[in-house]
Amino acid sequence: MEKGTAIERLDFIGVLDPIRAVHEQITRHGIPVTFHPGFISPLSGYGADFASADLYHGHAQIFLPAGKIRAHQVFHELVHLERSYVLAVPFIKAMPACLDHHKANIQELSNDFEHVDVIAREVSVYPEAAVYWEGDFLRSIEEAQHAEVPAELVSLQRRVTLLRQWIVVSAALPRSAAVGVIRSLLIEHSLSEVADELSESFRRAGNDTQAKIVAFAGAASYPRLETLQVLQYRPAIRQFQAFPMVA
Ligand SMILES: [Zn+2]
Repeated sequence: MEKGTAIERLDFIGVLDPIRAVHEQITRHGIPVTFHPGFISPLSGYGADFASADLYHGHAQIFLPAGKIRAHQVFHELVHLERSYVLAVPFIKAMPACLDHHKANIQELSNDFEHVDVIAREVSVYPEAAVYWEGDFLRSIEEAQHAEVPAELVSLQRRVTLLRQWIVVSAALPRSAAVGVIRSLLIEHSLSEVADELSESFRRAGNDTQAKIVAFAGAASYPRLETLQVLQYRPAIRQFQAFPMVA
C-alpha cells in the first residue's frame, strides 16, 4: 500500500479540529496513521461505505469512501486507535485455532466492548453522530428479530444479541430511541436485571477488558473464555502481545 493521503487533503463534512487533536496524539506516540480514500481494507474488506481502521505493529491504516467523508466517522476510527496504541487498552480476539465464524463473532463482540467508550466520545464531540448510531442500532435490532437461528440456539442468540446491544446503547446513546426498544425486549425476555448488573460491571471495569469479558460471559453464557486471547499493545517494543484469557 502506497503512502496514502495526508489528513489535510481529505474532504470532510464537519469540524476538523477534534480529528487533528487525536491524530496528533497518536502520531506523537510514534504511530503513523495513513489514510486511503477510495480504497477498501485488504484485511476486512471495509472502507467503501464507511471508514475502517486496520491496526498493525507500530502503524495503522484508515480506509474510507472516496469524496466527502463525515468527520465523525474518521474521528471514531482515530479514537479506536488512540485507545489501542496510546492507552494500550487490551482487546479480545478468538484463539487462532477457532472456526472462522467464531472469530468473526468475537471480532464483533470486541468491537462492541470498545464502542461503549468510542461511541460515547464520538457523540460528545460530534452530536450529529447520535442520529447515525441510533439508526444503525434500530436497524440491527430489527434485523436480529428476523434472523434465522436454529431452534436450539434461539434463546442463547437472543440473550447474547440483546446484552451486546444494551451495553453499548445504554452507555453511549442513553437518550436514543434504541434504549427504550432494547429495554422492552429485555423485560419481555426476563433479562432486564441481568442487563442492569452487566452495565454496572462495565462501569466498574473501566478499561479492564478482562473484567468486562468475564462479566459478559457470565451474564450471556457466551463466549467460552478458553476460546479467547487478549491482545495488548506494548509501546516499548512496538508490538501487540497476545496471551490466553484462561491460562
Ligand atoms: Zn468502531
